[in-house]
Amino acid sequence: MSRVDEWIVPDRVYDAHCHFFTYQGMERRAKAFGVETPEEMAKVYEERIGRKFVLPPKKHEDFVEMWVKEMDAKGLDKALMLPDWNDYSFVETATKVYPDRFVPFVMVNPTEENAMEFVREAYSKLDIRGMKLYPPLHYYHAYDDFMTPFYEFAQDHEMLITYHMGISVGASADLRYMNPSDVSPVARDYPKINFAFAHFATGYLRELLFLMYHVKNVYAETSSSNRWMEFLPYDITLHDVFRKVINASSVDNIIFGTDSTMFPRGWRKPIYQWQLAVVNEIGLNKEDIDKIFYKNLERIARI
Ligand SMILES: [Zn+2]
Repeated sequence: MSRVDEWIVPDRVYDAHCHFFTYQGMERRAKAFGVETPEEMAKVYEERIGRKFVLPPKKHEDFVEMWVKEMDAKGLDKALMLPDWNDYSFVETATKVYPDRFVPFVMVNPTEENAMEFVREAYSKLDIRGMKLYPPLHYYHAYDDFMTPFYEFAQDHEMLITYHMGISVGASADLRYMNPSDVSPVARDYPKINFAFAHFATGYLRELLFLMYHVKNVYAETSSSNRWMEFLPYDITLHDVFRKVINASSVDNIIFGTDSTMFPRGWRKPIYQWQLAVVNEIGLNKEDIDKIFYKNLERIARI
């Protein structure tokens, strides 16, 4: 392990993967899950993750303040916002109060009615920089025909699309829809869209590397504890993962994220420190480290 005081640190830190699950979103989740209240839903989460989960305040303004305080305390400059599904109300509040701290983004379930209208509205109102899609959770292939309007719109506005492919914490996920190869024809046909794969495509590293080798508008997004490495049939370290991605593509195609989700844990600084150690230990220089921790996202999310 290298010495912390010898690490090269980036000038700024932008997190490409921060969730903002609101109280209202928790109410909807409770209903869908079949429990009475968000408080009960929080208990379900606590049991599932084995960790404390404090419900967010009811007022969006208070939740934003909570987040900004956390970001200031831990040294996060900007967070790309992943709000509740097909709901931009929290993005609206956060970007109004702190336009310099949050990157407007939405999470879209495209199989829901009016999803395309939702994206258009979010773009015209909030200038969203892109959307997160989760095919294995909503049961569609990324290349399905019904997705064309979403890709046309994203292409016209040079958006970033973040996919969650690969294994999932959601037990209801369907393995048939989680292969990054599904994005191959899409990335080829829509060169003005940038495509990021959360958590290095969560187990589908090989397919991600092939895709990154083939097309230049594909990005590896580094967030989470990357536990998928434990489920591969061979040993691999995060050092190897970074090295392989740089070899298949380039340091310009990596964006940093943590997958921060909830309080009291808040912003996952240990994930940042771990990845900072890795990029130092594989010998990246200051320019490369700046690219990974903020410059690449700055470029592709119009920051
Ligand atoms: Zn996430």
